Amino acid sequence: MMIFESSQIATTMNKNLLDIVVCPICKSHLRLDEAKHELICKVDKLAYPIRDDIPVMLVDEARSLTPEEAIALSS
Ligand SMILES: [Zn+2]
Repeated sequence: MMIFESSQIATTMNKNLLDIVVCPICKSHLRLDEAKHELICKVDKLAYPIRDDIPVMLVDEARSLTPEEAIALSS
């Protein structure tokens, strides 16, 4: 019987998802914030939540980045 490290699987899934998931507004590729479990659009300065390893690509569910986060992204 094999026991998988669930967090390792999640990370692998997220990395693969990054190749196919795009921002629903501007269609650009997203940046993964592994610590916050969010997918970030630098263009729109929005963070889409990842729930149970499934990215929620809904504008209504996204949160706006704080000014500090936006600055950190652009550097
Ligand atoms: Zn966008």
